[in-house]
Amino acid sequence: MLASNDPRRQSWVEVPEGSDFPIQNLPFGILSRNGGPKKVGVAIGEYALDLSALYDFGMLDIKTYRHDHFETDTLNPLISLGKEKNRALRERISYLLSTETDELKNNTKRDLFLVKIDELDMHMPVKVGDYTDFYSSEDHARNVGTMFRDPDNALLPNWKHIPVGYHGRASSIILGGQAIHRPKGQMMPADADQPVFGPCKLLDFELEMAFITYPGKALGDSISTSEAEDHIFGMVIFNDWSARDIQKWEYVPLGPFLAKNFASSISPWVVTMDALEPFKTDGPKQEPEVLPYLKYEGQHHYDVDLQVFIQPDGGEASLVSHSNYKYMYWNVAQQLAHHTVNGCNIHAGDMMASGTISGKDPSSFGSMLELSWKGTKPLKLKDGSERKFIQDHDTVIMRGFAEKNDVRIGFGEVSTKVLPAK
Ligand code: CA
Repeated sequence: MLASNDPRRQSWVEVPEGSDFPIQNLPFGILSRNGGPKKVGVAIGEYALDLSALYDFGMLDIKTYRHDHFETDTLNPLISLGKEKNRALRERISYLLSTETDELKNNTKRDLFLVKIDELDMHMPVKVGDYTDFYSSEDHARNVGTMFRDPDNALLPNWKHIPVGYHGRASSIILGGQAIHRPKGQMMPADADQPVFGPCKLLDFELEMAFITYPGKALGDSISTSEAEDHIFGMVIFNDWSARDIQKWEYVPLGPFLAKNFASSISPWVVTMDALEPFKTDGPKQEPEVLPYLKYEGQHHYDVDLQVFIQPDGGEASLVSHSNYKYMYWNVAQQLAHHTVNGCNIHAGDMMASGTISGKDPSSFGSMLELSWKGTKPLKLKDGSERKFIQDHDTVIMRGFAEKNDVRIGFGEVSTKVLPAK
């Protein structure tokens, strides 16, 4: 029997060339069909495998799982079972979908289990309990520090010692596909001496990835860098919408607030850390040396190619950023170790975003703020129009995938249209 990540494993379900969802991926999501109940599904090629049907037909271990792990509004009940049971589930599904067995392939009720994704409605995969956003890309932090403070001291003194982060708002994290309205708020125009109120003028995206946690430890206990990935279920692409003009005025001295909490959009399929395992890679050398609790062994960065497109209303999408998750200075293990080093607890379904992912090259910057360098270098789109920031009726699309040995582990996309302020 081949392992679930083995590039040689094939599925009897046809997977088109270039699909994000070969049998080595098997991401989890929440789906419904024709307004029916929400269920856990796993993507394979252009299809989703309905796990509640699979369970009802006795193809999953009834000692470990219950029906309501699979017919449920969120992945939280399943994620709450922890790493070993979720890993075993993915192994079982991988085997059932492989050419190594006919058990599912020859089942006469097969069409009940396998449904075309485009016939389904996708929903928020998790009920996000607590949400944290880090600030872990050195190039992003350096760019922002250069623009707003001092090019000679772009990084604040703590930055290379602490994976800087803040607690955000969980309830406004939404699924891609759901349009957002341009937020309104208070801003201080550069030439004014009084703040003004109105629709934000400098609406921006932030290209990020976010991980979703398994259960953590009790309040008071910490998770080490070597334990961290035992507490991480999987990842999504994360667009952390940002209102730069509101942010600039409000963030002193406590940090982001209304400039960030009006919406963040995520991709619908959660790619498991098990599927991403073959794409681990080295991170940058960390100088100065970090404190012992932030040191790590092995690889905890992931080589995930990331792209951002802007699509004007009715127009063609233009690639505006091409970045990679491996550019992070602080990795997931360090982020989770830092988050819990004071005894802070985490729960199944918490979401932790990376912070904007920028590389060294200007084409890899992960926000309009950086790409247009505070609006001084407008980007040209395919239709000839220019963008300094995001305009009403623009759609921002983010895609990500990892690829090696002809296996492509994709995240699908997070695509969000911006509507005028209400
Ligand atoms: Ca952010």
